[in-house]
Amino acid sequence: MALQVNEIFYSIQGESTFTGRPCVFVRLTGCNLRCRWCDTGYAFYEGRALTVEQVLEQVRAYKCPLVEITGGEPLLQDEVHSLIDRLLAEGYEVLVETGGSLDVGRLDPRVVKILDLKAPGSDMDRLNNLDNLQYLDRKDQIKFVVVDRRDYEWARRMMAEHALAEKAQVLFSPVFSELHPRELAEWILADRLPARLQIQLHKYLWDPDQRGV
Ligand code: SF4
Repeated sequence: MALQVNEIFYSIQGESTFTGRPCVFVRLTGCNLRCRWCDTGYAFYEGRALTVEQVLEQVRAYKCPLVEITGGEPLLQDEVHSLIDRLLAEGYEVLVETGGSLDVGRLDPRVVKILDLKAPGSDMDRLNNLDNLQYLDRKDQIKFVVVDRRDYEWARRMMAEHALAEKAQVLFSPVFSELHPRELAEWILADRLPARLQIQLHKYLWDPDQRGV
């Protein structure tokens, strides 16, 4: 069985609590969501078939212990679990970033799950799978991408209703070029919210439209 792979690249991790660390990214093809502000639409269809072994060969070549599997939606492809098993067996630290609509219960507990909860501004909030919250632990991360004050208040309410800060790390990320990070920072500070602001560091280091960074 092969994986449909959009791209494999080595960069600085720009999001999550791993921000700033060198990381190999394996971006899988396909997504079942269509977030209004999505910045990786090129991953919906473009890609090539690679076996797990071929993916591993490319990952190993970067000699980097941190690997993130992302998309698109990486959980759409069943073979992703074989890739994760092999990466873990070889000693890699593995992050999986998912849009939050599919079941994360099958992921190996050693994987760091980065789970989106889609706010209303994405137009995908109806597809959040809240059953996934039961599978999170303190190393895992819940990410809210926030486009405006309405999204912020929705995320703040979700944090309170589901005690999210007690379950996992909570990340707030402004939609690039739509909400200024400073505005989001001020809201978080005013509410003394136990959340971490992140700013997609890679978009400040390189051209924000550049792929493979
Ligand atoms: S889940 Fe991610 S890849 Fe899919 S549409 Fe939303 S932002 Fe884009």
